[in-house]
Amino acid sequence: MKLNDFVRWLEARAPLELQESWDNCGLLVGDRDAEVTGVLCCLDADEGVIREAMERGCNVVLSHHPLVFKGLKRLTGANAVERSVALAVKQGIALYAGHTNWDQIHGGVSFSLGTRLGLQNMKVLVPRTDSLLNYVVYVPLAQAAEVADAAFAAGAGRVGSYDECHFATAGTGTFRPLDGAQPALGAVGFRSDVAEQRLEFVVPAGVQSAVHQAVCAVHPYEVVAHSWIPLRNSWPDAGYGAVGVLPKPVSLGDFLASCAEELGCEAIKYATADLAKTVQRIAVCGGSGADFVGAAAASKADVYVTGDLKYHGFQDPPGGVVLVDVGHGESEWPFVRDWAEAIRSEFLTFAVLISESDNRPVRTYHHHG
Ligand SMILES: [Zn+2]
Repeated sequence: MKLNDFVRWLEARAPLELQESWDNCGLLVGDRDAEVTGVLCCLDADEGVIREAMERGCNVVLSHHPLVFKGLKRLTGANAVERSVALAVKQGIALYAGHTNWDQIHGGVSFSLGTRLGLQNMKVLVPRTDSLLNYVVYVPLAQAAEVADAAFAAGAGRVGSYDECHFATAGTGTFRPLDGAQPALGAVGFRSDVAEQRLEFVVPAGVQSAVHQAVCAVHPYEVVAHSWIPLRNSWPDAGYGAVGVLPKPVSLGDFLASCAEELGCEAIKYATADLAKTVQRIAVCGGSGADFVGAAAASKADVYVTGDLKYHGFQDPPGGVVLVDVGHGESEWPFVRDWAEAIRSEFLTFAVLISESDNRPVRTYHHHG
């Protein structure tokens, strides 16, 4: 298995197009032609994790947070990032980051958190509204079914729990081939009138070029008439956070206890609420979810579980939603474990390990006094 094939598998699940503009997901260090010997999964890559990878026979470090965010202008070992990158290059260790793209897929970071907390019937909490396109392509009647199949196979026409969705309208296409053209139908210098179909599909932006390439590969025409129209529709399959329900109502106190147990939290912060209060509908967002408190309240959740909430954010939360801060890293580790498991079940030719380096940047001091 070449590194490039592994990267393509990852990006077919969480396209890089889904990442935020400030983010730096994807392959950060590495030779795409290298054979993968083993993958070490972690939240944060650093020198310790890179050394751990070397010791445990892995030449790929897969991290959720990108080690390199800003452009590296020099590599002199002046800080931890430079030293880590230099070590990885020297030792032939590839670094790959799957960050805000994996935060925003159905089955990504927040879904792992929700699953760990026992949530069922989860949906994306904040569906994206800027990621769907309408793809229109004109095809001679005889090839319309073949072109539609190619588009479906490349990821067009998939929304929620439906696939192979499209709309076809019959009409007449006209064209006049000019000198130099090699038309599939008609002759140079003469206008053709052809019975065609106008096919329309909803396409996620991440597979835009794959869909068009697949269509062009089977479309009979030399020049494929088509258009891409951006949509403002919300996309239920991508976006931050998740909301779901517990199998049965529990007290807030019991829910917090299970959060601590499942996520390995030393402490949990929560907004003032009666611990005997009954809760069942739970919104979650792995990482820093302070921006989605309003969405959690709008989803009618009883509780919103995330990390990095601020003091004033705990005061008077909207809709009476109980805010629960389990810690940034604690909310993301379930994803790292699920990520490793998904890769392990797909690839049998190399080991997939979970980092044992304790590089948590935030600790809790227990004061007994
Ligand atoms: Zn994070």
